[in-house]
Amino acid sequence: MTSTEQLIEWNAQWRLVNGSITCRACQAEQKEAEKGTAFVHAPGCGNACREINPGKALDDIAASFT
Ligand SMILES: [Zn+2]
Repeated sequence: MTSTEQLIEWNAQWRLVNGSITCRACQAEQKEAEKGTAFVHAPGCGNACREINPGKALDDIAASFT
């Protein structure tokens, strides 16, 4: 998977607005400053079993572009 594809996939699951990462499925929110901790989804969220640290994942994707 290319870096661009990874970024598209990230954007399909998460939204980054005003320094907060939001799960598109359950609307749970995490401040970017808390990205070192696991993301907490709402109960029953279908995305809960996927990426547990979206902020770090985004950093990794960004780093792969350089
Ligand atoms: Zn969720």
